[in-house]
Amino acid sequence: MTNSLRIGEYVIDLVDDHPGTPRDASVVYPDVPSSAWEPYKDIAFNEKGQFQAQWRGHLVRRIDGTGPVILVDTGMGPGPHEHTGKNGLLLDSLSKLGVAPSDITAVVTTHCHGDHVGWNVTWEDGKPRATFPFAKYHPALNDWNYYSQPGVSNPAFQKSVMPLEDMGVLHPVSGEFELAPGVTTLPTNGHTPGHQCVRVESGGQVAVITGDLFHNVAQVSEQDWCPTFDWRTDLSTASRRWLMWRAQMENWIVVSGHLPTGRSMGRIVDRDGKPAWEPV
Ligand SMILES: [Zn+2]
Repeated sequence: MTNSLRIGEYVIDLVDDHPGTPRDASVVYPDVPSSAWEPYKDIAFNEKGQFQAQWRGHLVRRIDGTGPVILVDTGMGPGPHEHTGKNGLLLDSLSKLGVAPSDITAVVTTHCHGDHVGWNVTWEDGKPRATFPFAKYHPALNDWNYYSQPGVSNPAFQKSVMPLEDMGVLHPVSGEFELAPGVTTLPTNGHTPGHQCVRVESGGQVAVITGDLFHNVAQVSEQDWCPTFDWRTDLSTASRRWLMWRAQMENWIVVSGHLPTGRSMGRIVDRDGKPAWEPV
């Protein structure tokens, strides 16, 4: 049960923003019959029996304090958010880690959905400014190309990604882009056209920050279950199976984008012949 992970020379910290909107599982996973949830109902839902994701980012930095300070995703943003009336706390969570917005040198966007880009830009008097003023922002080029097409609607992209171009801080990436020695993006397309994970390798250990490769712990065991948010379920399933297989076989630690805080970092282990989640 941890929110902070040491990987060789690096540390990965969870940066909480806000609890996500609770929804019925049948709404999020319309193709999964309710009876199929039965084996997972104790671990898959909140106390009211609903699907509820957590909105967050992750911080990757060296333990010796040198080198880049990388923020992977920026949560849902300032709010106040409708279902709680409360504000997002990403900047407060960063502050508790001793990190100011001006310390961040790179912002990696796993994908351009609203709950991952919310703090990218701060709007004041109708004008946007980069919340992390000295950071290069790295969405995937595939997402940038797709969502910047005329006629493709994504209000969060318009509000929190598009303005970065004119600020000169936008640096879209493709393939396995090196952010720091041993730290790279890892394309896992399907949830969106340019969904990417971030892989951290150091001292013989590997962790991978998975964005929206999966949204619920049941998907570790049921890897072909797809939420309605997936852009192409054939591709998201292929990416999920590929990455989860590698993580299981090579003992990677998986740092999930949306599992409940305290149980969101774990390994994929074999349990009775099926992959299962084991928090670290
Ligand atoms: Zn998400």
